[in-house]
Amino acid sequence: MAQPAHMASAWPDEPTPLALGTAPVPEYGSGSLADLLPTIAAGLDVPGFEHRIAELTPADRNCVFLIDGLGWEQIKAHPDEAPYLTSLLGGSRGGSGRPITAGFPATTATSLASVGTGRPPGEHGLPGYTVRDPAVGELMNQLRWKPWTPPHVWQPYPTVFQLADAAGVHTAQVSSPTFRETPLTKVALSGGTFHGRLTGEERMDLAAEQLAAGDRSLVYTYYSEVDGSGHRFGVDSDAWRGQLMCVDRLVQRLADQLPPRTALYVTADHGMIDIPFDEQSRIDFDEDWELRAGVALLGGEGRARHVYAVPGAEADVLACWREVLGEQFWVASRDEAIAAGWFGPAIDERVHGRIGDVVAAAHDDVIITASVNEPNESAMVGVHGSMTPVEQLVPLLEVRT
Ligand SMILES: [Zn+2]
Repeated sequence: MAQPAHMASAWPDEPTPLALGTAPVPEYGSGSLADLLPTIAAGLDVPGFEHRIAELTPADRNCVFLIDGLGWEQIKAHPDEAPYLTSLLGGSRGGSGRPITAGFPATTATSLASVGTGRPPGEHGLPGYTVRDPAVGELMNQLRWKPWTPPHVWQPYPTVFQLADAAGVHTAQVSSPTFRETPLTKVALSGGTFHGRLTGEERMDLAAEQLAAGDRSLVYTYYSEVDGSGHRFGVDSDAWRGQLMCVDRLVQRLADQLPPRTALYVTADHGMIDIPFDEQSRIDFDEDWELRAGVALLGGEGRARHVYAVPGAEADVLACWREVLGEQFWVASRDEAIAAGWFGPAIDERVHGRIGDVVAAAHDDVIITASVNEPNESAMVGVHGSMTPVEQLVPLLEVRT
């Protein structure tokens, strides 16, 4: 067990913990992923929604193209590989693009639920890659939905797609056939018709067709391989650059086919950061007796950890994690993270116990791996999850016809 927190100051070279007030909390309510579909729905006069993202103007036909893992900063850093996306960025480059915030943690399951439900993680209840299911006391992987739990008990809210469909808006999702029946699709993207297409080109062509199929339409489409190559090979690898070039052409292919009166929004679920393979940058929880002391379950992912303490050890675990991680992570108790708005302005009762007793969000270029329990995740080159701009800022690029 670590020394009690009050003794830490006896050591002059002990790092001071990062002040939680310095964390750039997502802009829930006016500039986050959870605000995009409600703003579009308000523009389509779907009952129950109001305009949240000030800069967006209504369109009759609306397409959201979500590129997994392609953050705002990554587009800005690669104008040669992404000439079309770069032309949409805004500022001196032309276009009217802007960054919005993904939400915390910046991870796919959380962000897709924020997009689809139009609610922040504290309400939709997918607040991490893995979180504890309070009903059984075990970790639940929300991307793979393992172990299985009833989807509509876990996330009971209707999606914006369902509400738009009910209001007579032509609504469709165009994605990989793999995702047709997944619980994550059910809780985040239900509503209207799901169309599975294997290739990006087929998805773009069908998305354009679906947009034209109604006078008022809402179409969602998705591409995963930028994220996949970033995890395996890194953000600046040849494989990743190749995927960026590929997706840049896909966006242009869709833009070229848009029917009249359409707004195409290109966005992402999170950015990505490469972490070096050395002991300073990769802290192995499974080999670290100080971090493990008093911990019953380690959830989340490398840069956004939910730490579930053995009952009674919550304060000790918080003090120890703060001391060990110093200025490398923002380390908050559950109550502190909730009060700071990390998961949104409100937390539903059923979501409370899914959040860690301690929540640790990376500030520096470091991750907390778990070499024994998470061998695959621990071997990733590119990762994401925290609140730093490179992970948190996602594009909101716009093409209008
Ligand atoms: Zn990812």
